[in-house]
Amino acid sequence: MGKKTNIQLMVDGRRIDGRLPEQLREIEMKIGEIENADGSARVRFGNTEALVAVYGPRSLFPKFLQESDMAILRVVYSMAPFSVDERKNPAPDRRSIEISKVTKDALSGAVFLEEFPRTVIDVYEYIIQADGSTRVTAINAASLALASAGIPMKDLVAACSVGKIGDVLIVDLCGKEDNYSESDMAVAMMPSKGLITLLQMDGRLTKEEVLQLLKKAEENCKKIYEMQKKALLEKFKVVGED
Ligand code: UDP
Repeated sequence: MGKKTNIQLMVDGRRIDGRLPEQLREIEMKIGEIENADGSARVRFGNTEALVAVYGPRSLFPKFLQESDMAILRVVYSMAPFSVDERKNPAPDRRSIEISKVTKDALSGAVFLEEFPRTVIDVYEYIIQADGSTRVTAINAASLALASAGIPMKDLVAACSVGKIGDVLIVDLCGKEDNYSESDMAVAMMPSKGLITLLQMDGRLTKEEVLQLLKKAEENCKKIYEMQKKALLEKFKVVGED
């Protein structure tokens, strides 16, 4: 189904926040700010900001929920009441339940769950500011939080959004673009393995545009992946090492 397109999102080749079509917003990644958590990360793409805390692996109760040969990854995505203009009810709604599920699926393949049978790894994702692309921002933060908890991983998961305004393809959609552009796609990847772990699309695209957008998503996930590795290296650099 098409989306609402009644506001002008592109003027003279620039987007409403002044960016070029393929320009990411300013990105910030911070690791380890939540002392009580086993791992944590805060990731900001422009005015979208996700804070993620990871607890575990820890014993899972009640016991009947346990998997005898692997850990369970439990993901909760939620938006803070103050994250959007109108107060957001913090109770889980259909959207947050769906995002929690797809985020869990996007991350599960990257974690060596089989190393921790009968346990649970809890991932709490809070959106503290929302201005588009919150699920991908939260996935980037969750991946860093899992790694910073010392949980063995096959790869980091890097994610970004891509879309279309008129016939121009764009990356990293802000809130208005998310709501009013012709189309948007959320993509998560395990870049070093070349695997896509999340692919969601809204709006209308031709098959060729889908392929072009996937290519742009891959290019940008790789850029984000490099930033994630840099943030981890900076945090865990051994003292005395250059
Ligand atoms: N949004 C909002 N209130 C809500 C849900 C979403 O204002 O209850 C805004 C927010 O800026 C969000 C955007 O709409 O980033 C797009 O939401 P969508 O469901 O497409 O998910 P996202 O792109 O954030 O992963």
